[in-house]
Amino acid sequence: MTNLFIFNTDFRLADNPALFHASESGESLVTMFIHNPKKWQDHNESDIKIAFQIEHLKSLKKKLGELNISLKVIQANGIDEEYKKIIEFVKTNNINEVFINKEYGINEIKRDQNLEKELVNMDKKLNIFDSSVFFPDSIKTQSDTFFKVFTPFSKVFRSKLVTKKIEILGFPKKQKNKILESDEVENISLKAERKSILELYAIGEEYALYKLDEFINHKILLYKEKRNFPAIDGTSSLSPYLSSGVLSSRQCLFEVFKKASEEDEGVKIWINEIIWREFYKYILFHNPRVSKNLSFSEKYDDFPWSDNQDYFIAWSNGETGVPIIDAAMKQLNSTGWMHNRLRMIVAMYLSKNLLIDWRQGEKYFMQNLIDGDFASNNGGWQWSASTGVDAAPYFRIFNPITQSEKFDKKGVFIKKWLPELSSVKNIHNPTSDERNDIGYSTHLVDLKESRKKAIEVFSNFSK
Ligand SMILES: Cc1cc2nc3c(=O)[nH]c(=O)nc-3n(C[C@H](O)[C@H](O)[C@H](O)COP(=O)(O)OP(=O)(O)OC[C@H]3O[C@@H](n4cnc5c(N)ncnc54)[C@H](O)[C@@H]3O)c2cc1C
Repeated sequence: MTNLFIFNTDFRLADNPALFHASESGESLVTMFIHNPKKWQDHNESDIKIAFQIEHLKSLKKKLGELNISLKVIQANGIDEEYKKIIEFVKTNNINEVFINKEYGINEIKRDQNLEKELVNMDKKLNIFDSSVFFPDSIKTQSDTFFKVFTPFSKVFRSKLVTKKIEILGFPKKQKNKILESDEVENISLKAERKSILELYAIGEEYALYKLDEFINHKILLYKEKRNFPAIDGTSSLSPYLSSGVLSSRQCLFEVFKKASEEDEGVKIWINEIIWREFYKYILFHNPRVSKNLSFSEKYDDFPWSDNQDYFIAWSNGETGVPIIDAAMKQLNSTGWMHNRLRMIVAMYLSKNLLIDWRQGEKYFMQNLIDGDFASNNGGWQWSASTGVDAAPYFRIFNPITQSEKFDKKGVFIKKWLPELSSVKNIHNPTSDERNDIGYSTHLVDLKESRKKAIEVFSNFSK
């Protein structure tokens, strides 16, 4: 009896429920990766994120081999084809049961339903596990509906954590026989500059666990004080590993509860961030609109967004004339990652001061982030654009200059990414003369005027 496990966004051996249970219940185990460039393109997955996953897969292949588990790579053309390819494989290789960890987008749910139907027709079973999310179905309001506000959701989430002890699963069991030869894992071709981005991120679930440990041992207690300052390395930087499932949120909470106390503010706030991650996945799962390129709030379906491509290109290249925004976009374009405070500032500037459709920014982020996560990215963008669940009210618009003065007081972050501004006195908002002297962009839009216009447009639209 041979079982099949399919890798989705769960590139790890430890605490991988579907892989663990697949290894326990059969006589042999085959794992599968679906090489699907069309799906990646349709989902705007960045090339560095895919290359990061492929590198992990290569390291997993080696470890799986030591456990007598083979890794097969199959090709599919788009997500709709995946279940058919899996079924073909099940038939040709006489697979007994299939094991997967759940993904929460509407197309992924549809794929898994189709797969299940086909398997049932063949008298076979699909075993589905929750690996990246805790309690997706059981967190409900008192009136038995799903939450749309974070704070009450997080209260119920925390109460469930207290009652349900977090359990971490070990590695899959070594199989008696390896029944198929593993396939080669194809590289993703990356341009030289993208290759150098990938080199910034170490590969391996051991490394992710080590990084988590280092964060908990040395940084978490100061998380509250340091987490908002982009020039300081004050956050965990674990998002690339969490987004690709190299590390699970369960492992994060397990280690935090083991080694730190929630009495400490830093610990409490960091746990809250992990719960935000859970919340956005829960929102995605229970609100199909989110997967359909629509605003969470139906009210904004016909909102008059601007389609000014010159502004959009200037924003994406870091040429808006607002130093903190330009520096943040340079960080994203050069490293595939951006600090959370900056993500909020650049997203609010694009969707409010420039009134550009948040979906353009969402797509640009997905295409460039190494930690691109559909649910968190969509949630962050819709929060900033005021169209989302528990979003920022439309009239509370960040002033990027004030944010810069507050969170990058000495301009250390700006100088790192825009060295041409190093000698400028008014680093947060250079004067016209200073701009002329160093050839730095003028403001795309007047910040006060554009803020006023955004409030007017939102307020008229809401009437
Ligand atoms: C416009 C916008 C887009 C975003 N896009 C993404 C994205 O594509 N992928 C992504 O993982 N995060 C996204 N975030 C959330 C957040 O910015 C990143 O998770 C965070 O910057 C990652 O850095 P870290 O690992 O050091 O986080 P830490 O501060 O150490 O937090 C630990 C973990 O908690 C989770 N987390 C933290 N903040 C948030 C949040 N606000 N929402 C959801 N989860 C959170 C992440 O998994 C993170 O790794 C976005 C936020 C905004 C405002």
